Amino acid sequence: MHKKLFIPGPVEIAPEILAAMATPMIGHRMPEYAQLHKRVKEKLKKLMFTEARVFLATSSAFGVMEGAVRNLVAKRCANFCNGAFSDKWHDVTKRCGKEADAFKADWGKPITAEMVDQALATGKYDAMTLIHNETSTGVMSPLPEIAAVLAKYPDVVSIIDTVSSMSALKIPVDELGIDCCIFGVQKAFALPPGLAVFTASEKALNRAKTVEGRGYYFDFIEFATNDDKDNTPSTPCISQIYAMDCQLDRIFAEGLEQRWARHKEMATLVRNWVSDRGYAFFPGEEYLSMTLTCARNTKGTDLAGLKKRLAAVGYAFDDGYGKIKGETFRIAHMGDMRLSDLKELLAEIDRQLAEM
Ligand SMILES: *Cc1c(COP(=O)(O)O)cnc(C)c1O
Repeated sequence: MHKKLFIPGPVEIAPEILAAMATPMIGHRMPEYAQLHKRVKEKLKKLMFTEARVFLATSSAFGVMEGAVRNLVAKRCANFCNGAFSDKWHDVTKRCGKEADAFKADWGKPITAEMVDQALATGKYDAMTLIHNETSTGVMSPLPEIAAVLAKYPDVVSIIDTVSSMSALKIPVDELGIDCCIFGVQKAFALPPGLAVFTASEKALNRAKTVEGRGYYFDFIEFATNDDKDNTPSTPCISQIYAMDCQLDRIFAEGLEQRWARHKEMATLVRNWVSDRGYAFFPGEEYLSMTLTCARNTKGTDLAGLKKRLAAVGYAFDDGYGKIKGETFRIAHMGDMRLSDLKELLAEIDRQLAEM
């Protein structure tokens, strides 16, 4: 039995998208591919509100997250950490042989503009990494405020992960001054995993040119050279790019404003359920994520038991990530989910809890 996914990625995939993935294959050096690539790129620019280069990488998000630090850190990187994915990014930065410092907020807390300002004011850093929406803790950091601080540091290249937020709310990449905006597609974007998207500003590309040891697979300069021909350095995941073409059409057919509003409604529904049932939020209320709700298991519910019961009736439920597994549970409200899907899940959780 297929379990309907309510975990924070991968998420349910629309049947039209699965069908688009079955499009007959083309060669990536054929004109048909360049047309597809160009079409997708132009739509992504519209979605991300950017005139910067937009690249398609055949990897999960961490491929590009690693690539970005290899390309963009010349001197020293400030990694802002407030959960499992951002903690890992610091580890990855060091594993790439880069000088880096972690600026940590407790799990459940956001990265604030003040933290970023203090760190960058030292003048030690020429790049910074930040995760907009920490999927492990359900915390959304205040990106516009952070961006306002970043504007004070023109020598710092900003690398921002929007894996679990891109398309769920407005993230105007150019207006925010993001030099490299990265997202994988299996979360907020609702495509099967294996494709990542990233932007590179002129500043980012100029930096990359000066950095040694960029490697090959994620070399931003290789990406830029190939982008001039609407192509990629190595063979891309063409089936997924067909899927992305289809998904972008679906996103614009729904309407960006409508898509953002739907996410707000879904978040409100789930948050109200969490409060009504007497659970607490893991993050502070000001920083609750728009795409998933991470609840504190204040009632001592047997979450592993609940997960098993939900699996038996066809729902995939998440009982926390990393060091807060069992203490928290997460309900995703991202991608193509509708309010009715979440109502169905919450009713089922109520039913199971009543029997436990
Ligand atoms: C899932 C996730 C990642 C890691 O993505 P992979 O696709 O597993 O490489 C990175 N950042 C955030 C915010 C995520 O939610």
